[in-house]
Amino acid sequence: MKKILLFVGIISFQSIFSQSFIPAYQSRVNSITQSNINSHLTEFSSYGVKTTGSTNNTNALAWLKTKYVSFGYAASQIVEDPFTVGTTNSKNLVVTKIGSLYPNTFVIICGHFDTIAGPGVNDNGSGISIILEAARILKDVPTEYSIKFINFSGEEQGLNGSQHYVNNIVNASTPKMDIRLVFNIDQVGGKAGQINNTIVCERDESTPTTNNAASATITQELANCTSLYSTLLTTIGPAYSSDYIPFENNNEVITGFYESNVSSFPHTANDTYTNMDPVFVFNVAKAALGALQHFAVASTTILATNETGNDFDNDAVRIFPNPTKDFINIEIKNRNIITYNFVLTDAAGRMILQSKNESKIDVSSFATGTYFGTFTSGEIKLTKKIIISK
Ligand SMILES: [Zn+2]
Repeated sequence: MKKILLFVGIISFQSIFSQSFIPAYQSRVNSITQSNINSHLTEFSSYGVKTTGSTNNTNALAWLKTKYVSFGYAASQIVEDPFTVGTTNSKNLVVTKIGSLYPNTFVIICGHFDTIAGPGVNDNGSGISIILEAARILKDVPTEYSIKFINFSGEEQGLNGSQHYVNNIVNASTPKMDIRLVFNIDQVGGKAGQINNTIVCERDESTPTTNNAASATITQELANCTSLYSTLLTTIGPAYSSDYIPFENNNEVITGFYESNVSSFPHTANDTYTNMDPVFVFNVAKAALGALQHFAVASTTILATNETGNDFDNDAVRIFPNPTKDFINIEIKNRNIITYNFVLTDAAGRMILQSKNESKIDVSSFATGTYFGTFTSGEIKLTKKIIISK
């Protein structure tokens, strides 16, 4: 529900990085797929106008539950949070993953699934699709902090679901729920036919001001993670008019993502899949998952079975074969990539090979084992687990 305000962004300077690049985070980011994003968006669209309290709204909530179940979350982790505003009944859906070191401190990643006047594929099927991918990929990844994946309803009527959650869950818990930060994703679909390459990182610039400095810090970290784990550019802007605001008013620390090419279609029947940019959502998902791992302090060890060696292949580059015994080939698929570097590190993180603009790399002298190949070109950074097997 953000279309009223005009936004003026400030280009952020990315020279000061308070985060270092973590190969395991990139590996998980690389397991986000465009086809999953597209499926989430089109399925979300198929439930039609999901006005808070409507049958479509209820059906969309049920769809969300089946998604989390399919990712392997236990029934006890998936909690419906019902609320009533006037004569309207609806539910938030809250999925909790417990942290290893700080089980009672929560990183909240949230977005609303209710829509108004249209299917809301951008506002906010885009945010929901990203939260689903993040939940799928992090299901078995240890994080030091607990994570709540929250799908809010009632947003379009005035942040009703999130306000209910703050009043009746956060503040009604004993002791009050300890929230590390709230990361809201709302309307990150961009515009079809345009170059959508920049994401707005939103920080708290409103009252109460006691939490503003902390928000500025984590919003800069969000921008840094965006640069580390995606190809997107960032701007910093003010947080307003979405589900982080009730948390902000509760003196929690907030940040958020919002599109920089602001679409005029939200809150109309034209907020459809074809009018937005699914590739932008895919790129925002990478930035979001990189940042979420940073915020929740995810394991830096690559363990999951979906992270074992295979060919790396995306729109920009293909790195193959994997496993390999003698050579690694680097096939550049994006003609905008002129120069690139490739670094191979061993399992202990020691650099054992460095090359520039080479398409065929001899690894025949290295022992059988697990390595990490990092490809960089300008803003693009990709790290892949590579198996050398004799
Ligand atoms: Zn929205």
